[in-house]
Amino acid sequence: MNGEKLTPQEISKIEIRELAPEKPEKIEEDFKRRMGIENIEGKELNYKDKIFVKGFDKAMEVNISNEVVLNNFIGCFGKELIRNLGHDKIKIQKANNFIIEPPLEYIEEPRKIDELHKIVKRFKDLRRISANILATSNKITYEKVEAILEGKERDQIKHICKRRATGGRINGQLFLVIYNFDPEAKNIDQFDYLKELNIDDEKKRKIYLLSTIAHEFAHELEALTTKENTETPSQYLDISQEEIIRIMDEYATIVDSEFSSKREKFVSDYVLGRERAGNIKSSLYGDDFTETLRIYFSNANYLNKNYPKRYAFIKKYFPLFNENFILKNVGG
Ligand SMILES: [Zn+2]
Repeated sequence: MNGEKLTPQEISKIEIRELAPEKPEKIEEDFKRRMGIENIEGKELNYKDKIFVKGFDKAMEVNISNEVVLNNFIGCFGKELIRNLGHDKIKIQKANNFIIEPPLEYIEEPRKIDELHKIVKRFKDLRRISANILATSNKITYEKVEAILEGKERDQIKHICKRRATGGRINGQLFLVIYNFDPEAKNIDQFDYLKELNIDDEKKRKIYLLSTIAHEFAHELEALTTKENTETPSQYLDISQEEIIRIMDEYATIVDSEFSSKREKFVSDYVLGRERAGNIKSSLYGDDFTETLRIYFSNANYLNKNYPKRYAFIKKYFPLFNENFILKNVGG
């Protein structure tokens, strides 16, 4: 580097390289660190050496067991689907972490890159788990960082940089990870499909958590439509990849044509928020589908009433998925 001072972009590049280890045995370790799941406490619950659930009994937002999470997952998608899983293992985990994804300019604009470096330096319990993703288990730190990134006071933040959950694959394993959702849990009626339910808030928080897992897993189905996708196996369903692509094209025409009085477009505010944050169109259609499934499991009546085409679509093409399963499971 001939002794010159590095630009912030160059520093960022070096960091990315350092995060990608040369040693293969370190890859899984590195993957877990990037996912924010390096140290999840507690026992792991196992279903037929296929599905592994961990960390939910330690969740601070809701009182739920790993058993409920496991049974719920199988109950929603059906044993047939689980049996045909192409992944060697599915690991469903609750991480005690807040994950923050700063807006794109923080990895693109030199001045902003610099600013992000300073933020990371300033908070001792804030970790940079990849070039543009930060993690902390401290709620106060999370709120302070979010406030800086949003340019608001701490009590005014909208949590727009907060990541709720993520899915990732490595070595034949699919990880579905749920992060801390304290802000969502405290304001659970922000989700209109939950608000309409005549049940207590604790049950709504359980539905939110369980349906977030369903949302993440539904991305696996939706990902089958990506032609380049070689890692996601297509034996989830008894149909060809061509047929799945056709089905999802049909879904896209529904998204374009079905609107309700609830919002200008899309099936939930979450998808609308992602559009405003600048996400690409194809990923918005994917998230609309995964949100539709979330609602189908949580409050199918809401879906049928406000988005009847989407409801009919799920019933037609995914008949083994169990309508309202989550709602019934929490005793709603
Ligand atoms: Zn999603």
